[in-house]
Amino acid sequence: MKRLFVLFFITLLNASLIWSQDYVNVVARPGEDVQSLLAWYKLHEYQCNFDKFYEINNLKSDTKLQHNKVYKLPILLYRYNGKSIRTTIGDEDINKALRIKAYNEQMLEVGLMTTNFVLNRALWVPIYEVECKGGKTVNPPLATNTNPTTSAPPISTPPPPTNTSPATSMPSGQQYAIFGKNQTIKMQSDKLQNAVYYIVAGHGGPDTGAIGSRSGKDLCEDEYAYDVSLRLAKNLLENGATVYMITRDNNDGIRDERYLPCDYDEVCWPNKKIPRGQKSRLTQRASAINDLYDKHKARKAKVQRALMIHIDSRSQSNQTDVFFYHHPASPGGKVVANQLQKTIKAQYEKHQPSRGYKGTVTARDLHMLRETNPTAVYIELGNIRHERDQRRFVVKDNRQAIANWLMDGLVEDYLRN
Ligand SMILES: [Zn+2]
Repeated sequence: MKRLFVLFFITLLNASLIWSQDYVNVVARPGEDVQSLLAWYKLHEYQCNFDKFYEINNLKSDTKLQHNKVYKLPILLYRYNGKSIRTTIGDEDINKALRIKAYNEQMLEVGLMTTNFVLNRALWVPIYEVECKGGKTVNPPLATNTNPTTSAPPISTPPPPTNTSPATSMPSGQQYAIFGKNQTIKMQSDKLQNAVYYIVAGHGGPDTGAIGSRSGKDLCEDEYAYDVSLRLAKNLLENGATVYMITRDNNDGIRDERYLPCDYDEVCWPNKKIPRGQKSRLTQRASAINDLYDKHKARKAKVQRALMIHIDSRSQSNQTDVFFYHHPASPGGKVVANQLQKTIKAQYEKHQPSRGYKGTVTARDLHMLRETNPTAVYIELGNIRHERDQRRFVVKDNRQAIANWLMDGLVEDYLRN
């Protein structure tokens, strides 16, 4: 993971979009060969990347890499113009722009890139996107179970491409470690372009939240809230948004099981240990959000939303519908909460017309609503201790459905802005 020796040589020689036609640089490590190096950067599926690598480094194709030497990667550095990838690179192809966005996010996710391109304006464009599109692909040199000899990659190597025409998707789909091994990002649209979401699955670390009991098993609120949160994050990402999972679990991706084991290893963005005290836990995550919020605000994000997701509504005896809180002093939060409530209500009425939806929107002075700077909404999905709510949450399709409905509501909210 500590492979952060990517160096930027940012020399603004002229007013062109590209920073003096610079490439992303990397320092070769002991034992590294070109194939494993390019595989780290997910560049190993195009022959063009290999050819370019040798060309820009003035190497013959059988040359061995020298460790500690700086090499250029076949990734062009563009100065992101703050508007869109398409205008930055001067190419109207929306699918290309989505692939490039996904590529940058993946590099950030695995730690090869240190800052979101929206924030530092350094956009990475793999050279095959601009110079040799349609060039022939090569079989990935790394199969899923053969890691480079130097060290294991930070995430699993993606499977070989199933579709060799990368017109609408990345050759092998994008994978983010946070979503788990078998989850592939499939870009659907860029309709949430320039929107930033901070998703806080409630509790985590030493705090499991409420605990329900079912079939002799403990149901921890934080695990189920986290699963719904990840599914929502994936939906948002697939539609062009920038998404931050604030509470994170590095080894629990999206899970389909009925019973999600309770664990205590969640961390706070980017990778901080979650403290025991409730006040310090909340302060930690609020300040993680606010730091990012300031940066994205400076970069003129169109909308920024913080979403706190819980499954511990108070009333133990009553089954509860999804309901919402906003801060009393946040009219913006109230508008977003009302939109989400409206969307969810419509879905309930569509799927269970006889039942009647009773989810409310209320003002409440909660720490995470008060202390976070983006427009914030607190979402109570139900009560993990209630038998009928449990029945909802142990079924993966229900967890997915609620994530989809929240996504729909957020799209409506975005469109109003
Ligand atoms: Zn909770």
